[in-house]
Amino acid sequence: MDKVAKLNELRQEIERDVNLPLRSNLVFGEGNSDCEVLFIGEAPGKNEDIEKRPFVGRAGQLLRKNIRDLGWKENDVYITNIVKRRPPENRDPSPEEIEAYKPYLTRQIEILDPKIIVPLGRFSMNYFLPFAKITRDQGKLFDVKDRFVMPMLHPAAALRGTGAMNAFVATFKRLPAALAEAKRGYDIEPEVETAQPEKKMEDVQGRLF
Ligand code: URA
Repeated sequence: MDKVAKLNELRQEIERDVNLPLRSNLVFGEGNSDCEVLFIGEAPGKNEDIEKRPFVGRAGQLLRKNIRDLGWKENDVYITNIVKRRPPENRDPSPEEIEAYKPYLTRQIEILDPKIIVPLGRFSMNYFLPFAKITRDQGKLFDVKDRFVMPMLHPAAALRGTGAMNAFVATFKRLPAALAEAKRGYDIEPEVETAQPEKKMEDVQGRLF
């Protein structure tokens, strides 16, 4: 089965899973199933719920503009969220909601098999890097198990102030270099996978910048 068929099957499984929390529309994700770069936000908001597409509101427009500013097409990448339905009143997703949708995100990542994952904001970053701090660690390239992960500020945070916007844009411009580094790759020691959570995070920032 090709990736598109596998993604469709996964989408249908989520739709059928009556045990999942949240009853708003399913926002599965969109983009190139052969992507090298996978952006992961936290959960859909009101606009995303209406359109059933990720990152289509103001924050999404900022994300998509920065993708295009790199000379990439929006459809070169894949965009999704950890939690695939909108929490009511735009509240943060709860730990239970994140846990419930986790197996589906894991499978979505396995199918897409991107070269680099870009978690957007704290919730998404902590999914991969439980001990990381977004202001300290955004823009660094981490090796999490056998995946390269470069967290960024959430674009909604970037919209809240000039400092955050400058940091968001500056980090975004470094994404092609981070992708090149991830594509060069290197052998990951098997111990990394069995190490304690803090040790799972091998900061390879020094190798890159
Ligand atoms: N914020 C997110 O984290 N995801 C979206 O899809 C939209 C806004």
